[in-house]
Amino acid sequence: MPFVLVVEDDPAIRRAVIRSLGDLGHAVASAPDAMSGLRAAVDEQPDIVVLDLGLPDLDGTQLLRMLRAVSAVPVIVATARDDDTSVVRALDAGADDYVTKPFSAATLDARIRAVLRRSASPGGGDPTLRVGGLVVDPRARTVTLDGEPVELSPREFDLLTYLAAREGQVVSKRELLTEVWRQPYGGADKTVDVHLSWLRRKLGETAQQPRYLQSIRGVGIKLVEPPR
Ligand code: CA
Repeated sequence: MPFVLVVEDDPAIRRAVIRSLGDLGHAVASAPDAMSGLRAAVDEQPDIVVLDLGLPDLDGTQLLRMLRAVSAVPVIVATARDDDTSVVRALDAGADDYVTKPFSAATLDARIRAVLRRSASPGGGDPTLRVGGLVVDPRARTVTLDGEPVELSPREFDLLTYLAAREGQVVSKRELLTEVWRQPYGGADKTVDVHLSWLRRKLGETAQQPRYLQSIRGVGIKLVEPPR
């Protein structure tokens, strides 16, 4: 079972998260502020960190930047803020996923398991990515959807591979532009949107009736297994 570090200043929330994750069989450590959280993340080597963004000493995003300088430990940001900007900033700073408060223990547990599954997969084994009926083979650079080949441009292929490798994880457009296009983010850039709409068409879906490619308004995009 994974060892989870919870960084949360609100004692009631901290206790509730520790108890519910403990009930689910996780080993849990906790820290009430950013600096002790950073120390615990380095010293105690957790498998994953659940990080509150509103902390008394430092903003959670600042902590995340400091942590990323020394550790690749997966981080799920827990935010009470419903503004997209803080979520985008946290994802850009290296968060792997986020949950919005109030969240259920079941939701947090599912996110933890999904993030750990993703972070365990790189390196070794079969690199083929399977999401529902979608199969992406990064070595052969081929894609099939429900067994039928899908013809993609090199950029569309890279975009789909990047998203499929992060199944269920919201990826910001800024990250896509930086990681897939290797371009600085220009704010008003429509490059990602345009390629996403081409990719959607080739996967037989639209923004209005998405299946695999789910837009999260103002935050980014995630690739999911569509309901049957
Ligand atoms: Ca807080």
